Amino acid sequence: MRVLVTGGAGFLGSHLVDRLLADGHEVIAMDNLITGNADNMAHLAGNRRFLFIHHDVTNYIYIKGALDAILHFASPASPVDYLELPIQTLKVGSLGTHNALGLAWAKGARFLLASTSEVYGDPLVHPQPETYWGHVNQIGPRGVYDEAKRFAEAMTMAYHRTHDVDTRIVRIFNTYGPRMRLHDGRVVPNFVKQAQQGEPLTVYGDGSQTRSFCYVSDLIEGIYRLLLSDETEPVNIGNPTEITIREFAERINAITGNRAGIRYEPLPKDDPKQRQPDISKARRLLEWEPKVALQDGLERTITWFRERMIGD
Ligand code: UDP
Repeated sequence: MRVLVTGGAGFLGSHLVDRLLADGHEVIAMDNLITGNADNMAHLAGNRRFLFIHHDVTNYIYIKGALDAILHFASPASPVDYLELPIQTLKVGSLGTHNALGLAWAKGARFLLASTSEVYGDPLVHPQPETYWGHVNQIGPRGVYDEAKRFAEAMTMAYHRTHDVDTRIVRIFNTYGPRMRLHDGRVVPNFVKQAQQGEPLTVYGDGSQTRSFCYVSDLIEGIYRLLLSDETEPVNIGNPTEITIREFAERINAITGNRAGIRYEPLPKDDPKQRQPDISKARRLLEWEPKVALQDGLERTITWFRERMIGD
């Protein structure tokens, strides 16, 4: 296949690029490098099946030649990033998705949208199945990301129904691993950075809110299987092992040997109280489930960050 990955320099986009190249495909990565990082593609220099295009997908996208698939991963994805870039976040979810879908239609390419557990908002149903419509505060600060992705899903289904574009929608739950940005503000880089520096971990609120963390290699495998499947309705991909943020902080302090403990800070507005994917659909349709335990994934991630933090 010849595949376009928007957001191809980002955390997930770059891992997908690697996976596609490893499977023998030709890959074009497109990124405006606002939250993506060229370092994530440095190892691909000289690879004749890889091309990087520096472009903002909210503007018209031109690609010469045939395309078999478009994986639309461009978007700020960390709460800190999308709170700093609210309009760009809304634009990439709306205009960017429209442009990427238009390109898929023109090329006859399969289209896969990177959606999110944030479409469920602060969920009132637990765990969250794909059939849940969500509980989103559209005028709150997180609404820019949640509504952008909800719009992107609606636009994707409209292109599927109206123009018969062959579409896929993955709803991605919290994912961690190498290539997260140290300063992106999400809980994993924050805690790992603080632990490495011997500082207390900043738990927001009382830490009783929960998340379910998926190691990046598991997530990429699930997305790849979804791409190759024929399921056009949304599919949750994530790890259902749920943990409170306080326990998560204690776990990271234990692994790193950090004795500085925890410091409690205010909870951001509309921070979801609990989140856990219902992955029955992925299990059934894709024969997929996560394999990497939290302990192993965290150890790998901490090692990766440690190597990068030397001299930071
Ligand atoms: N969080 C925290 N300390 C931090 C960063 C995040 O306690 O330094 C909490 C945050 O309030 C949320 C959870 O960790 O409850 C996950 O936050 P993240 O920004 O990683 O992603 P989210 O799941 O909220 O999109």
